Amino acid sequence: MPEGDTVWRQARDLRAVLEGKVLTASDFRIPAHATLDLSGRVVESVQSRGKHLLMYIDAEQARDRVVIHSHLLMEGHWDIYPVGSDGRFARWRRPAHTARVVLQTRLASAVGFSLGVLEVLPEALVGGAVDHLGPDLLGPDWDAQEALRRLRTDPAEPVGLALLDQRKIAGIGNVYRSDLCFLGGVHPAVAVAQVPDLPRIVALAKRLLEANKDRSGRSTTGGPARGDAAFWVYGRAGRPCKRCGATVQHAKILDPAHPVRAPRDIYWCPRCQPEP
Ligand SMILES: [Zn+2]
Repeated sequence: MPEGDTVWRQARDLRAVLEGKVLTASDFRIPAHATLDLSGRVVESVQSRGKHLLMYIDAEQARDRVVIHSHLLMEGHWDIYPVGSDGRFARWRRPAHTARVVLQTRLASAVGFSLGVLEVLPEALVGGAVDHLGPDLLGPDWDAQEALRRLRTDPAEPVGLALLDQRKIAGIGNVYRSDLCFLGGVHPAVAVAQVPDLPRIVALAKRLLEANKDRSGRSTTGGPARGDAAFWVYGRAGRPCKRCGATVQHAKILDPAHPVRAPRDIYWCPRCQPEP
């Protein structure tokens, strides 16, 4: 499940192979950009904003700077395939029909698979894609007070939904929202205004994403990022709470702010997080 830390890490890895490099080929496998050719142009920078990824491509002759904007949504992933000693790029690890874009340099190929959003925008229009985002937990603009202000704009909203709303705080996904509610001792249905210590939950969010951004697995417990040790309640329906032993509960709820309108899993401990 891509969350802010996943996207931050993908931006870091893509930056290492693309930034400052000339594209030797590009292949957009989506109708809107099927004929777009960015070969010969330089990738100036690769940035993450919340769960959005932005690649700035230099201006060239009569062509303005453009930005490749992508979002992983539920299943998306960027893979990097370095060129081997035989001069060929490594074999793809995912099905070719799920590739949406291929960006090649002399030394590496970056392939975006199953991207939920992929568009190439004139630089002037990038704001429309990301300006709505709240403070980015892993961004240079992180501002805890502003995130709190935005989270509190709708005091009756359940905290389990507010934490997922990228317009209020950017970077939290389905995994973190369940475990943040657990760590805050609040049931996800508790209204934002009734949360006893919202600043602590926001501080924990920052700490968890920072702690996980450099590792390939994710853990909210400080334990190994694999199996049952990784999370407090996320993915642990029917298992005993690690604090009190009560059975972890699970439900599917609709998240009105999420671009994919499908019910999403939520987990909680009925004893540590009493219902409102
Ligand atoms: Zn418990």
